[in-house]
Amino acid sequence: MFDFTRRDFIKTAAALGLASALPPVSGCASKSNAKCELLVIGGGAAGLSMAVRMRKRLPNANITLVDPAERQFYQPGFTLIGGGVYAPDQVWRPQSEFIPAGVKWIRQAVTALDPAKKIAVLGDLTKLNYDFLVLTPGIQLNWNAIEGVSRETLGRGNAHSIYDFEGAQKTCAAMMAFVKNGGRGLFCDTHTKLKCGGAPKKICLLTEHLARKQKRRDAVKIDYFTASKELYDVPFYTPRLKEIYRERGIIVQCRMKLTGIDTEAKKAHFEKTVVSTIETKDPKSGEVKKTEQTQTSRVTESYDFFHFAPPQSAPDFVRQAGLGWREGKLAKEAWVEVDKHTLVHRVYPDIISLGDVAGVPTSKTSAAIRKQLPVAEENLLALIDGKTPEQKYNGYAACPIVTDYGHVLLCEFDYEKKPQTSFPFSLLDTSKELRSGWWLKVHFLRPFYFNWMLRGH
Ligand SMILES: Cc1cc2nc3c(=O)[nH]c(=O)nc-3n(C[C@H](O)[C@H](O)[C@H](O)COP(=O)(O)OP(=O)(O)OC[C@H]3O[C@@H](n4cnc5c(N)ncnc54)[C@H](O)[C@@H]3O)c2cc1C
Repeated sequence: MFDFTRRDFIKTAAALGLASALPPVSGCASKSNAKCELLVIGGGAAGLSMAVRMRKRLPNANITLVDPAERQFYQPGFTLIGGGVYAPDQVWRPQSEFIPAGVKWIRQAVTALDPAKKIAVLGDLTKLNYDFLVLTPGIQLNWNAIEGVSRETLGRGNAHSIYDFEGAQKTCAAMMAFVKNGGRGLFCDTHTKLKCGGAPKKICLLTEHLARKQKRRDAVKIDYFTASKELYDVPFYTPRLKEIYRERGIIVQCRMKLTGIDTEAKKAHFEKTVVSTIETKDPKSGEVKKTEQTQTSRVTESYDFFHFAPPQSAPDFVRQAGLGWREGKLAKEAWVEVDKHTLVHRVYPDIISLGDVAGVPTSKTSAAIRKQLPVAEENLLALIDGKTPEQKYNGYAACPIVTDYGHVLLCEFDYEKKPQTSFPFSLLDTSKELRSGWWLKVHFLRPFYFNWMLRGH
């Protein structure tokens, strides 16, 4: 198993020509002498990277990062823990390794925010004033929104989720046992926007391949339920993904929303929506009108092994501070109301938000953050210097869908859902799963995250 040091990583990337895919080093960019209090809430993929970048660009600012987490997790690795490819210790490093000199780290959670007064309140009731705020607390996983489930009881009744570090480890053991013992494996996603929408599909496809590898495919039945109306909604990649599910004999059902799990009885409860189109003819004009009718019903499914994703939202303090979208599709879960191009808050222009919490109509992935970072960095600097933020994010997101142990469908797209290939694979057909995508996913992206992205590059 490769385990790159930072130097190995940079040498390998350069040798393979991947350096061209790496964004320029922000240390070379211009600096601002502005003095200000810059507060960063949340030090994950987005917040930590922003703190490092802004430290380089704002030598005279006081930069404070608030985050209670002692560990920095590479969450895309949770899928590979679930699949038995990574050991748990490969996906995290102590947060202290990444905090740059000159950034004050407060190991607490923000519990309240007053954006009009520019004050954040911490768990111990300390109040922090800021001039500018980077709002990056990621996603809140609402396990309790599924009846019969809590984070603490994950794994009970063989109901598992890789959306949690310990949960991913339990998933791995349970998936191996399921393949050995046979039965029905049921996989589903959730009805809210979710981090890495591909993750529930990946663990499903890995389980199916594991069963084939171990000559146990006949002993297992595998079903995939999605709450969406389609298995995937990026037209360039959807046909092949659907074909893969068909080839593997995995039955897909759409518009199935998980509502509860009876872990004692090993039954999952869903709300099933059926949409039908009704045609009516206007008796005078003869014009045919089509209207959609939806019908919902409760459905209960038995399983032997169950994998699910929890409903997700912005953290409560974001909603309570009134920083979420006030209307539209992104309002219900209170995703932060930012301009989708500049990432600046639409009501409070001293707040910039990126990463999973940001209310932008694209997928929530760290790959998206990689492209949001230079935009947020330049625009924040412009705001601090009293200029107009002009950099624009195009909605780029990527989701490497692991289709088996050895292949990945490297989905990269923008707001228009047009493919956006960023790695030097242009001679390959990226609408199909690739072996090189597997190498990238398993060996390249994790060291890229720890050694490059979080270092402010
Ligand atoms: C199973 C799984 C698979 C994934 N697969 C992929 C993939 O293949 N490719 C990909 O690109 N992405 C993938 N992702 C998504 C990716 O991990 C996220 O998009 C990314 O980590 C989001 O970064 P973020 O900084 O917005 O949030 P996070 O990295 O989650 O960081 C948020 C930080 O905020 C802190 N915080 C929270 N609340 C508060 C508070 N009140 N006060 C202070 N701090 C707070 C937290 O402690 C945390 O450190 C996957 C995620 C999961 C769970």
